[in-house]
Amino acid sequence: MKSKTLQQKTITTPERKNVALVAHDNMKPALIEWADKHKNKLIKHNLMATGTTGNLLHKQLNVPVQSLISGPLGGDQQLGGLIAEGKIDVLIFFWDPFEPMPHDPDIKALLRVAAVWNIPIACSVSSANFLVSSPLFESEFERQVPDYDKYLQERL
Ligand code: PGA
Repeated sequence: MKSKTLQQKTITTPERKNVALVAHDNMKPALIEWADKHKNKLIKHNLMATGTTGNLLHKQLNVPVQSLISGPLGGDQQLGGLIAEGKIDVLIFFWDPFEPMPHDPDIKALLRVAAVWNIPIACSVSSANFLVSSPLFESEFERQVPDYDKYLQERL
């Protein structure tokens, strides 16, 4: 499948979003601090996170978080699958630019699938600040996604 032949369609992301949060170990303090600062905005959405990140968010911020599998054990792949199924609307992913990770292929795959489905991604504190300060974070917004049904119709 070439991206040229894959047409796009517009879908609406709801006001209450499914927001996924992931932080590598060295980045967890920054994510917790960031999430604490923006707790009031975050709790208006459904939060999910990879295992250890989710556990920390729940314990330290006392916010409801759906914790998935831990990243190195497959959590990044699980998140990627949920994105492809349209079940995640926003990804906050503080990956560590200084440490090699055993699950590097999973991290790349997660970032790739997030780009395929055109969901807003923030990989640093400042980009996450931009994201939560956008009016779109608190309202519906439209985004373009691959139109696979159309691709199949035109192919056959
Ligand atoms: P963790 O996973 O939240 O379980 O630590 C994050 C990651 O390493 O991708």
